[in-house]
Amino acid sequence: VTIFNNVEHLPPDALFDIKKRLSQDTRPVKVDLGIGAYRDNSGKPWVLPSVRSAESQLQKDPNFNHEYLPIAGLPSFTTGAAKTIFGDDYDSTRVISVQSISGTGALHIAAKFIEKILPGRIVYLSNPTWPNHKAIFEGQRLTTAQYPYWNASTKSLQLDGFLDTVKTAPEGSIFVLHACAHNPTGLDPSKDQWAQILDKMVEKNHIVLFDSAYQGFATGDLDRDAYAVRLGLTKLQKVAPVFVCQSFAKNVGMYGERVGCFHLVIPDQSVEINASVKASLSSQLAKIVRSEVSNPPAYGAKIVSTILNTPELNKQWHADMVTMSSRINSMRHQLRDHLVELGTPGNWDHIVGQCGMFSFTALTPEMVQRLEQNHAVYMVSSGRASIAGLNEGNVLYVAKAIDEVVR
Ligand code: PLP
Repeated sequence: VTIFNNVEHLPPDALFDIKKRLSQDTRPVKVDLGIGAYRDNSGKPWVLPSVRSAESQLQKDPNFNHEYLPIAGLPSFTTGAAKTIFGDDYDSTRVISVQSISGTGALHIAAKFIEKILPGRIVYLSNPTWPNHKAIFEGQRLTTAQYPYWNASTKSLQLDGFLDTVKTAPEGSIFVLHACAHNPTGLDPSKDQWAQILDKMVEKNHIVLFDSAYQGFATGDLDRDAYAVRLGLTKLQKVAPVFVCQSFAKNVGMYGERVGCFHLVIPDQSVEINASVKASLSSQLAKIVRSEVSNPPAYGAKIVSTILNTPELNKQWHADMVTMSSRINSMRHQLRDHLVELGTPGNWDHIVGQCGMFSFTALTPEMVQRLEQNHAVYMVSSGRASIAGLNEGNVLYVAKAIDEVVR
């Protein structure tokens, strides 16, 4: 027996396996409601007009080159990224921003940082959450636990259970909160609920990690979607650090270019202490990045930096965000309306009540399987549908398919 003969064969990643089955499916009509990637009304990936302009601007720049970036990334990008999430007037004396391999890489930096600097703290994840959260934190040998989030019977936030867990968790635990457009439920706390949640975090000196992968998709407005993060910074600034893991995959449509940023906000003390803590922590983060990726990828960061730092392009990007979010919203309404017209058993209002790219449809795993088998409509077994996969050409087809499997 050689050393690898008994290595366990792991199951394929659920989302990427859907893509594989779909590409092998020979039926003429297929619908991909699996992966969270925006599609235009003809079902095609969309290169944002702001990205096209930034790219052509870059290519015309005589100084453009493919040199290495600094270890912490492209400064004009990381500063622009911080302003996008914290607002223009954020306190840069307390924020360390390090470029990352999209949102996943930012979470990975966070996990490595926690393992090194804050060992032994439990990382709390929402139930349910993006499955990679658990894999990323446990991959760094951190212990994860869950906090209640989705109440399946009322299709609303399980606020009491959530707050109870915040109260009973060991002091100084780490809570991963979805900044907006929660994946997979499409359900965000209200402003009042955010205040209650964050106040409880302060009471227990917990550390909040905001995962911001969908800024702009909840309301169509990038600033409004930063509400929870900005409130968190105000409430938590004296007591605890705040982590933000920021992805530009979805809101700039740069999925494969892996553009992201990890921000660490240090607790506010005196100017001197802030400066010295910031310098030490920056050196720790630089060491993590250096040993993992040496320095981050440049191309996507240059495009996003151009968008963030050129006023017309920034304006165009905000408009592109509205284009994407309003098309998704219109699809939510059309799907719900078709289901109502078809008399499909059940109430489908949650589809329009939820926000972001996804709807947590409440279809059972069996129904999801029949959707795939009988109708070539693909989604994950949890019943999460990527609404961005719907368009004028397939939404009625999908409604009829759902109607058939629900009856
Ligand atoms: N966090 C959440 C909740 C997500 O849904 C995703 C992507 O699906 C990510 C983070 C990270 O995505 P990426 O690494 O592509 O930026």
